[in-house]
Amino acid sequence: MKYNLTQLVSQKVNEVVVDSILTLTKDDELSKNDSYKLAPVMVTGAIKMNGRNFSLDLHYESKWTFLCGRCLDETEYVIEGDIERSIVKERNDAEDDLVYVESAVIDLYDVIYNAIVLNLPQQVICDDNCKGLCPDCGVNLNAGTCTCVKDDIDPRFAKLKNLFTHDEEV
Ligand SMILES: [Zn+2]
Ligand SMILES: [Zn+2]
Repeated sequence: MKYNLTQLVSQKVNEVVVDSILTLTKDDELSKNDSYKLAPVMVTGAIKMNGRNFSLDLHYESKWTFLCGRCLDETEYVIEGDIERSIVKERNDAEDDLVYVESAVIDLYDVIYNAIVLNLPQQVICDDNCKGLCPDCGVNLNAGTCTCVKDDIDPRFAKLKNLFTHDEEV
């Protein structure tokens, strides 16, 4: 995703329009979760002059497929966000938010990739009410019930039960 800034510098244009569909390669961070299915990312926005430097203003959007963190069903998730950065021609290690450009051509791939990876949710669930899988038999409890006996004892009775158990041991 390379953009030439020459016309911007020579003030032939006011902005370089970014309107592109980006396909991310599944490497590094994204390979940590094999369940991601990556759809292409739509990126729109512009690069403008800002004094001696440039400003980058982007919006990205895509729909990815994850496995639900509770029931493991495939779940579509909207990946979306804004990226605002200053692009500078001289490196300044003191500021993380700056993008450094060496030549008249800037490649935005890394900027977008990093922004998306930073914004990825820790866990995606298919529904707030997802019941997940039975820890004993593995049945998807959204689809039906299982016959596992649940040891749901009222905490007040649990104390009593412990008492009796204790007595028996004496
Ligand atoms: Zn689920
Ligand atoms: Zn079960």
